[in-house]
Amino acid sequence: MSENLYEILAARFPADRARPCFLLSDGSAISYGQLETAAGRIAALLRERGVEVGDRVVVQAEKSPQAVMLYLAVLKLGAVYVPLNTAYTAKEIEYFVGDAEPRLVVTDAVALERDSQAFAPCGACAPRQASDIASIIYTSGTTGRSKGAMLSHGALADNGFALTRAWRFTDEDVLLHALPIFHVHGLFVALHCVFLSGAAMVWLPKYEDDAVVLGLARSTVMMGVPTFYTRLLANPAFTRDAAAHMRLFVCGSAPLLPSTFAEFEARTGQRILERYGMSEAVIITSNPIDGERVAGSVGYPLPGVDLRISGGDTGVIEIKGPSVFTGYWRNPQKTAEEFTADGWFITGDVGRRDPDGRVWISGRAKDLIISGGFNVYPKEVELLIDELEGVVESAVIGVPHPDFGEAVVAVVIGSADAEAIQEKAREGLAAFKTPKRVFMVADLPRNAMGKVQKNLLRETYSGTFTAT
Ligand code: AMP
Repeated sequence: MSENLYEILAARFPADRARPCFLLSDGSAISYGQLETAAGRIAALLRERGVEVGDRVVVQAEKSPQAVMLYLAVLKLGAVYVPLNTAYTAKEIEYFVGDAEPRLVVTDAVALERDSQAFAPCGACAPRQASDIASIIYTSGTTGRSKGAMLSHGALADNGFALTRAWRFTDEDVLLHALPIFHVHGLFVALHCVFLSGAAMVWLPKYEDDAVVLGLARSTVMMGVPTFYTRLLANPAFTRDAAAHMRLFVCGSAPLLPSTFAEFEARTGQRILERYGMSEAVIITSNPIDGERVAGSVGYPLPGVDLRISGGDTGVIEIKGPSVFTGYWRNPQKTAEEFTADGWFITGDVGRRDPDGRVWISGRAKDLIISGGFNVYPKEVELLIDELEGVVESAVIGVPHPDFGEAVVAVVIGSADAEAIQEKAREGLAAFKTPKRVFMVADLPRNAMGKVQKNLLRETYSGTFTAT
């Protein structure tokens, strides 16, 4: 039996194909039937352009329903979908195109869909096995070259089903979709939950303050990154009433500050459900839909996911499970490096499990600071600083230091005084963990998913102790 992801998704589309899939800002809708037909037409066009089973199709296009149709068309043909961040420059694209060797590069999904209207929809799907590759997601690549994580039809289907069940999606749901679709969060997590439950989406091209509040009025679930939630809270139009009928707010892709969680609960009476995932495994853990959602914890491994901590109570998180990627595209060496001899994927995230089995993440292993031979977990220092009066958020990094190798530096958003922060940190932390310098800033550098780019901070502050 074919395990083509398109077939698995389409088998769950609503029986009544006239039901809406996309709800657009102008009040119009695109039905499941229209989505299916357009995917079939685009597949026919791509086939005519020579796209065959296993060929890569690179897509760097603005977010649109047509880009989703294109994604489905690529799956249908058994080709491999390779989305790229819309912010990448021509030079960066050159690298990705060189690496992926696509049959086709699409930069305008709307025009492609228009051109496809001349074609009769191709009906059948290319038969695929669960282990065949459906998509390559290039990692954000904060160290070295970005690597292409290969995700199979089976991995994506399995994770989609697990999430649909874990978050109890039904065809009554309406998801507010404001995430980019070049990343696993907006592409797989959001779309697959919707398709596998026959739900609808309020479709927004991007996060935009007023559009999101308006969209919430028509929605039941929202998926976001932490910056969506801080922006919502900064918007006075986001009231308790505006959120009253929502059944679920999901957050992930970067750590949600406990203060944001608390402020959100105070404003709306609802507790954000935080989950943890990555390009190489889609979603790994989630807070429960029933039961306690704990601020600062990313919850429990999803059913089917095995999770262990290497080397002690706090250490690198390793996982096994059906949604783990197949390997890095044309990079067997890197793939081998990131799996243990007994087949566990080394996530690169440092964390621990509490006695209840909940997972707590303290950051990326590569962000660990070694100062004077002692290990400093940035998260521990950040948590202390974030609690202080006048602090909004902090990022703690290690920078070169002539005596200590690395020294702890805190970069802080807020109105507090740098020296006062240092003083408080000294009271609460061992000397080697206390920031040797505190810099107050207006903003922290973030990527499209709201993740603080510590590599950029390390560059910016690299000369703090070593500049001549
Ligand atoms: P990406 O592959 O771009 O999705 O990035 C994955 C990384 O984002 C993970 O390895 C984590 O470091 C981080 N991440 C994702 N979700 C969370 C979360 N809920 N809390 C903390 N870090 C997260």
